[in-house]
Amino acid sequence: MTAIPNLNIVPFVSVDHMMRLVLKIGVERFLLELGAYIEEDYRRWEGFDKTPRVGAHSADGVIELMPTSDGTLYGFKYVNGHPKNVRAGRQTVTAFGVLADLGTGYPMLLSEMTILTALRTAATSAMAAKYLAPPGAASMALIGNGAQSEFQALAFRALLGVRRLRLFDVEPEATAKCRANLEPLGFELVDCATPEEAVEGAAIITTATADKQNATVLTDNMVGPGIHINAIGGDCPGKTELHRDILLRSDIFVEYPPQTRIEGEIQQLPKDYPVTELWQVITGRAAGRSSARQITLFDSVGFAIEDFSALRYVRDQLPASGLYQELDMLADPDDPRDLFGMIGRCAQGLGPVLTM
Ligand code: NAD
Repeated sequence: MTAIPNLNIVPFVSVDHMMRLVLKIGVERFLLELGAYIEEDYRRWEGFDKTPRVGAHSADGVIELMPTSDGTLYGFKYVNGHPKNVRAGRQTVTAFGVLADLGTGYPMLLSEMTILTALRTAATSAMAAKYLAPPGAASMALIGNGAQSEFQALAFRALLGVRRLRLFDVEPEATAKCRANLEPLGFELVDCATPEEAVEGAAIITTATADKQNATVLTDNMVGPGIHINAIGGDCPGKTELHRDILLRSDIFVEYPPQTRIEGEIQQLPKDYPVTELWQVITGRAAGRSSARQITLFDSVGFAIEDFSALRYVRDQLPASGLYQELDMLADPDDPRDLFGMIGRCAQGLGPVLTM
């Protein structure tokens, strides 16, 4: 990692700077490079401190903290999930995060993570699909056409070459928005009137819906042999997308079982139901897709290590791009023990009007 020169400032990446960074790098290159960082961290999975995220639930949503460390760096993300926010013109998911030096405890980066979460979720989904989707999959059903949807589409094209998308959302204006964003980028798109129509002929089904309830976006009869399901919307207790019978016919792959058993589709199954950890597939310790008729399910909830990788990636882009502001977030008295005296010297500098 190239150093940011002044250690007493914290680089801050605003939403505006994140958008410029994405545009400067290019969305698909960003997703490819970010995917490589996530995969690198999945390969050293065992070296991370891991814990299920800590959630504060209300009737309409959840706020979660997601910490992790690799023994050198520490990262955390603050993220919410409030499906009803959209009706009031707000995002369902917003986030920010911090990367810090574990040795000194000093923060090294504060970043917006609303856009970054969409990118890292999509990169993780596509990374999982590289190991789990049927080889040569060219068509994907994209069910739930909200904020995450275009990022998912772009990641599946960048990492797997998927160009044909079958779109469905309960709200047609969401599908129209998704089409308007993706059509100029060269995707072949089919708008579908029902989820049944969306899954016709698709080798991959992505569900990215938001509803704080046990929804049934897919029923058992909609999932034929050989399909890969990338289920990202069921990510909270009491918030699932798939009928339980689909889970019983699938080989299920997860990020971190202690968190997924609380939050993922598998909250519908017994606590000891067998699942495979994705990092074991990536490191070759467990099989991914092993037959043409197998139904594979990536029960994604989003795990702290993916955010850690994303913060690492963004931090590495900053020296060359300069796309950050310098935050005066770290007190820096001449004598580290004289924090109070620093305020006094500040008062002197400001003149007689301000006294201690
Ligand atoms: P969003 O509110 O912007 O979009 C959700 C869309 O789903 C809306 O357009 C809504 O009309 C549609 N929808 C709701 N119920 C539906 C149904 N039964 N069938 C079809 N469409 C339906 O939300 P978003 O930011 O795109 O997030 C989508 C989901 O992904 C959320 O549940 C969010 O919590 C989750 N998420 C997961 C991860 C992860 O790492 N797994 C990361 C980010 C977001």
